[in-house]
Amino acid sequence: MARIRLDHIRHAYTPELARAGNYALREIDHAFEDGGAYALLGPSGCGKTTLLNIISGLLTPSEGHVRFDERDVTDLSPELRNIAQVFQFPVIYDTMTVRENLAFPLKNRKVPKAEIETRVTDMLRRIGLETKADRKAQGLTADEKQKISLGRGLVRSDVNAILFDEPLTVIDPHMKWQLRSQLKELHRQFKMTMVYVTHDQTEALTFADKVVVMYDGEVVQIGTPEELFERPRHTFVGYFIGSPGMNVLQCQLDGTDAVVGSARISMPGGARAAAAGAKTELGIRPEFVRLVPRGQGLPVTIDRVEDVGSERIVRASLFGQKLVSVLSEGTSLPAEADAVFDPAALNLYADSWLVERRPS
Ligand code: ATP
Repeated sequence: MARIRLDHIRHAYTPELARAGNYALREIDHAFEDGGAYALLGPSGCGKTTLLNIISGLLTPSEGHVRFDERDVTDLSPELRNIAQVFQFPVIYDTMTVRENLAFPLKNRKVPKAEIETRVTDMLRRIGLETKADRKAQGLTADEKQKISLGRGLVRSDVNAILFDEPLTVIDPHMKWQLRSQLKELHRQFKMTMVYVTHDQTEALTFADKVVVMYDGEVVQIGTPEELFERPRHTFVGYFIGSPGMNVLQCQLDGTDAVVGSARISMPGGARAAAAGAKTELGIRPEFVRLVPRGQGLPVTIDRVEDVGSERIVRASLFGQKLVSVLSEGTSLPAEADAVFDPAALNLYADSWLVERRPS
């Protein structure tokens, strides 16, 4: 296994696109630590697959270097990088049995027969396919086939990392949860470096220790699920993570306050001055917006209330800007409401980037 270092990577698919400044990856400078479980999360077209293919060696970056530990592997083929990949559609041999599929990568590497036997038997148990070991793969369900793909990566001892590209896309919804938990458990047992590409935040947040959020060819934040929730470094992260996403309100700064419409909001630690001319915004998650009786906070107009199981989502307006509040079960909603923001949950943004707080 290896630490994977992406050293100032940029990628344009053609020289013409590069000349036009049209980069699929604009600048990636990041390391995946040995043994970590990472998710690459972002909307369609943000560059996740491009980055994954650069790690595996299917693509050579236009600029920069890929290193596994200290070794520069930028020009090495996928085979020489010892990377296992699990794609959207399981890549397995339908005419082989489950056992033969698992043994295949080991046979190719001339692993002694007895060791193949031991490893394959162990892997069959870990992926829960012992009872189907001698069945042909073609009769199996999509999730069983995807388990074989995964097992084929894990069965090898020489793998530097396992890369997953949206591996649950073709899996039945009710099996997704099971496969996801199994994957997490296998990571715990094997401690392999795993990089998992998805545009589904639930998958990313449940699988990964660290989530790498990508937007428009760049990494905008790397953090634990809690960090992404509590302190989104970019308004995109606030909007993309969480359901519903973070409220982002345009504001002006006046001394240490943020001003929205005619409401003054005192910022904890004071609003640190943003660069002159910067677009300033206030971020607050809907979970930290309380709705109280009129006269006790900032005046809002309630536009719509949605019941979603144990919670209610209240869609309101504050001086013409949209404001969403999530009310937990049992919380009453006043007919005429004001909003109160939890000061600890306020984030200030300048040109979409978080303005760090002054140390208190
Ligand atoms: P998705 O979730 O839809 O798979 P993604 O985040 O994986 O998206 P990429 O597939 O890496 O995004 O694409 C990043 C950018 O590069 C997009 O603008 C895409 O149109 C472009 N792109 C991808 N493959 C090629 C290619 N072979 N030639 C030219 N442009 C490409």
